[in-house]
Amino acid sequence: MQFGQFQLHIIRECTFKLDGGAMFGVVPKPLWEKVSPADDLNRVSLACNLLLIETPAGRVLVETGMGNRWSEKERERYELRSLLDHERVLDSIGLSNSDVDAVVISHLHFDHVGGAVIEQNGKLIPTFPRAKYYAQKGEWDFSFKANARARASYRADDYRPLEEAGVLCLVDGDAEILPGVSVKVTGGHTSHHQVVCFESAGEKGIYFADIIPTASHLTPPWVMGYDHYPLASCDYKSECLARAANENWLIVFDHEIATPWGHVKMNQAGKFEWQALNSEFGN
Ligand SMILES: [Zn+2]
Repeated sequence: MQFGQFQLHIIRECTFKLDGGAMFGVVPKPLWEKVSPADDLNRVSLACNLLLIETPAGRVLVETGMGNRWSEKERERYELRSLLDHERVLDSIGLSNSDVDAVVISHLHFDHVGGAVIEQNGKLIPTFPRAKYYAQKGEWDFSFKANARARASYRADDYRPLEEAGVLCLVDGDAEILPGVSVKVTGGHTSHHQVVCFESAGEKGIYFADIIPTASHLTPPWVMGYDHYPLASCDYKSECLARAANENWLIVFDHEIATPWGHVKMNQAGKFEWQALNSEFGN
């Protein structure tokens, strides 16, 4: 999709399932299952949607998905279906892994950074050989000292090899990655979770990552049970969605299984309404 001077592409890396109760936190099941039906194990269907932003100054890939380093047992638990060959992540748009200049990781949970490295000859190496990888320093530090509840979402093998390869850039707070593409710390999901904002020729957009993972999470109190700071998530959503509606930002959802991008409007009752784009990926 053309976006000002940028080209945007969504790359669907995988589909998977997670427990519906965990995905919707304190929201009662009779409410969430109307918008996100559960299977017989109470799981809801999700995807990992990566966003490639092609700018005149370089290509930024937002997120890397689950990757391919999963056992059969784990694949079954999440009903994980990989949708691409990780040696050729951008095949569907005619680019190669070495065409990526920067990779931005919203936070270090395995469904975001699992695809950052691939195994070659028994060694874990960066999936995108020319790219610098950007993550928050606070998130990096936290991942190594996470307590028993938080620890299950981190696998150091997903990201420690980036440091060893010398391609890791730890950012401390909000920062510009390339002209028109910047990261902003939101907190909420994890204390240093970040979103990606992009802007070109007067158009604005945002990749919400796990602060608003699907269109079913637009209502500010519909916050994931996984969030470390759910009240902060709720506040951030109210404030940011009001701006997004006002200024007609393009919105991209990381885990939406249906069309993952579109716009949000505020209706007369003061509720946020989702308007998905017509084409699923718009490549
Ligand atoms: Zn996630």
